[in-house]
Amino acid sequence: MALDQESFDILLPTIQRFIRERLVPAENHLEEHDEVPADIIQDMKDMGLFGLTVPEEYGGIGLSVSQEVLVNYELGRTATAFRSVFGTNIGIGSQGILMDGTPEQKAEYLPKVASGELIMSFALTEPDAGTDAASLKTRADLDGDHYVLNGTKRYITNAPRAGAFTLMARTGGPGAGGVSSFILPANTPGIKLGKKDKKMGQRGTMTCDVIL
Ligand SMILES: Cc1cc2nc3c(=O)[nH]c(=O)nc-3n(C[C@H](O)[C@H](O)[C@H](O)COP(=O)(O)OP(=O)(O)OC[C@H]3O[C@@H](n4cnc5c(N)ncnc54)[C@H](O)[C@@H]3O)c2cc1C
Repeated sequence: MALDQESFDILLPTIQRFIRERLVPAENHLEEHDEVPADIIQDMKDMGLFGLTVPEEYGGIGLSVSQEVLVNYELGRTATAFRSVFGTNIGIGSQGILMDGTPEQKAEYLPKVASGELIMSFALTEPDAGTDAASLKTRADLDGDHYVLNGTKRYITNAPRAGAFTLMARTGGPGAGGVSSFILPANTPGIKLGKKDKKMGQRGTMTCDVIL
């Protein structure tokens, strides 16, 4: 999967120009207000940045990995918070659906991911499970025809703006083999968000706990 070269040769300079003319001048705003301005987020949606790597059949641009790398080089010229706004949509937040989702899940979620209508976050890390992610403790217990989730996820990028999470929880025994992945709408009853984390840098990025 890749965008044809001719289209990519138009897209890349467009993104370079957006970075130069819209993002770099907004860096002071990031520092002062710790937020990405709403009009910039709208411009990102209009440009298709939320769907850079989502296949065209789901409304994305369908970049290959090497094309995405070239775009990321350019995004590296400005504050990391800008890419972070759509970074979970084109990466960890939705990749699981793309790789392993059912046709129904792909049809339901990926077009909204690509347009930016839906922000997706990836919820793996926990207070006692970081590098050793396979030791996570969040439980998902089957209760009739649904699962009951209990646990706390930590440092979840874009959680304050997420409409859904790709969330890992234990359905079986110890180790990675006992972990399952869930698509969890953010408005599911019982989900609470922690206070936005105060970080030493990366102004404008958002992380917080997700408490189930
Ligand atoms: C800005 C930010 C955004 C994040 N966004 C997300 C997100 O969207 N979703 C999500 O799920 N998580 C997210 N994380 C969490 C991130 O994935 C974890 O911080 C990471 O996995 C490390 O876990 P930890 O912080 O618990 O550190 P620890 O695992 O406690 O590690 C601390 C230190 O010990 C070292 N260490 C650990 N184990 C070993 C070992 N066996 N041998 C040698 N050294 C070791 C590590 O390299 C590290 O230097 C985010 C974190 C940050 C800082």
